[in-house]
Amino acid sequence: MPPEAGLSDEQQALRDAARRFAREVLRPAALATDRMADPHDIVHPDSPWSAARRAARQQGFHLAGLPAAAGGLGLDPLSLHILLEEFGWASPGLALSIFADAFPATAVLLHRPGSRHLLETIVAPFVADTEAKLCSCAALSEPGHGSDALWAWKRGDSDARISFSTRARRSGDSYLVSGEKSAWVSNAPAATHALVWVTVCAGDGRSEGGGIALVPLDLPGVHRGPPTLLLGSRDFPQCSLGFDAVRIPAEYLLVEPARYESAADQFLNMGGLSVGVAFLGLARAAFEEALRYCRERIQGGVPLIRHQAVQLKLFELFTRVEAARAFSRQAMVACLAPQERVPIEYSTAVKIHCTQAAFDVAHEAVQLHGAAGLAAGTVVEKLFRDARGDLIGDGCNRALALERSRDLIENYPS
Ligand SMILES: Cc1cc2nc3c(=O)[nH]c(=O)nc-3n(C[C@H](O)[C@H](O)[C@H](O)COP(=O)(O)OP(=O)(O)OC[C@H]3O[C@@H](n4cnc5c(N)ncnc54)[C@H](O)[C@@H]3O)c2cc1C
Repeated sequence: MPPEAGLSDEQQALRDAARRFAREVLRPAALATDRMADPHDIVHPDSPWSAARRAARQQGFHLAGLPAAAGGLGLDPLSLHILLEEFGWASPGLALSIFADAFPATAVLLHRPGSRHLLETIVAPFVADTEAKLCSCAALSEPGHGSDALWAWKRGDSDARISFSTRARRSGDSYLVSGEKSAWVSNAPAATHALVWVTVCAGDGRSEGGGIALVPLDLPGVHRGPPTLLLGSRDFPQCSLGFDAVRIPAEYLLVEPARYESAADQFLNMGGLSVGVAFLGLARAAFEEALRYCRERIQGGVPLIRHQAVQLKLFELFTRVEAARAFSRQAMVACLAPQERVPIEYSTAVKIHCTQAAFDVAHEAVQLHGAAGLAAGTVVEKLFRDARGDLIGDGCNRALALERSRDLIENYPS
């Protein structure tokens, strides 16, 4: 267990509560979900996944990212980091599934804070929802747009050609949303609401720029594809979403073209940090699994831990985990501070660094387990499969690094 110098009494209490919940509720539910052969069963109301999400709601963890004035926990960035690491230790998939539920409420508070209607119909019901009836997702990627979807409609002439195929066309006092999002939209099989990244069009069909629309998924014209069964992170289940001229009130276009670039950066900033910290949790879990196994496993008459090469490897893994925590904590505090420009290259570096650390540590943890690390149903085998996914999910790491190098070059002080 890592030393925690400098935490306040409240932060230590939060860590202890989150750690207990992660160990007793989230980890067992994540393992049970991972073993389900049919992805339809994962989101059934009686499933371990649904039960764990309900338990999180009853403890108020869904309010972690919301300000106190809106009924949230009003956590400082370090507390948010602590909570995400603990939940990520249990399983990044379930952790991110719980955090994704707050997307619509967060987006309303950021982009339509003056709309009484949205505060009453989106934010207040979410805050009060202790049964996890509300579930949300973010639909960016499309069959024809993967990593590039993250920088569609953003600066530079060369990017103007990248635009979402999903469109929101003005029609009187509403918008009609049409198009298809990829089969990888996480939480979509159970979602009641989606934030949908769109190309905004005037009534005559002319493109005006990027936008983010809030779409309740019970509206006529919404359809879902079959659930996808991925290699890992099965507790953040996925399917495609289709929109066939879905009519939404104009104010549900939460982000209009004029504010799209900064709003998209803000979202990716929070997304990069959350994913990075959740996978730091996975890295710690993998290290702890390796240490436990090497202490217990007797081979050739001695515990594995007695071999010097094993000791060196364990120390290397410990260092990776601690470095990822130090970097992501500092970035969480720096990137969530109110400022004119979101330091998107910094939060992206956290996403890349922590997901790579998680994969490397999980890979070595499997190695230290020998054949036992490959056996279906062991914790370390699941951690390894989960870690692989987010080198791709939320933007492939290589593509992200290439794109953000432009922000870095433009903004790094000379
Ligand atoms: C676990 C997981 C969860 C996801 N959750 C969501 C979600 O909630 N919502 C959502 O909308 N989408 C989601 N996705 C989709 C995800 O955003 C895309 O898979 C990701 O952006 C990559 O897109 P792609 O799969 O189409 O790959 P592509 O973009 O087609 O890339 C394929 C390969 O080409 C390389 N490549 C592509 N472009 C470049 C470039 N410019 N420079 C260098 N190399 C490049 C990549 O590194 C990659 O190896 C999720 C995916 C995963 C795996």
